[in-house]
Amino acid sequence: MRELPNIGRLCPFAKDCPVYHGRIQVEDISLHLIKNVFCNRGEKGWMNCNRYRIAITGDEIPAAATPYHPKVKQKINIDKVDNETEREILKLIKQHGKCLMGDVIMKLKLGNQSGYNYLNHLLQKKWITNTANPPYYSLNVELS
Ligand code: SF4
Repeated sequence: MRELPNIGRLCPFAKDCPVYHGRIQVEDISLHLIKNVFCNRGEKGWMNCNRYRIAITGDEIPAAATPYHPKVKQKINIDKVDNETEREILKLIKQHGKCLMGDVIMKLKLGNQSGYNYLNHLLQKKWITNTANPPYYSLNVELS
């Protein structure tokens, strides 16, 4: 089958990656699709790959790991989160396990719109989620 054109930058781990070289089949998904969704897509695609996320921590990658398994939470160093309000929101959610938007707004003394904007920004970065236990917000990352 013809190789699809590379639509972005190649993952730095591709050279030795058994998924990239087709030695591990990812369910019934074609290798072309895997490469274009994850491997050839620049950092945005790589960060969605669980193999990549393990590789950048320096931990050993399980032999059968694929872009989808095992699920690994991104690790965030709380002291390196630039935005002070986002840092406080992450700490608050960690402290309580889950929070409503009203809790965040009240405890951090934010306006409704700005509270919504901060939460939305964290959702876009996938650092928090509101689908695991709606309407609560919970962490989607590990904080260190
Ligand atoms: S993105 Fe994932 S599957 Fe693709 S080469 Fe990198 S580690 Fe392998």
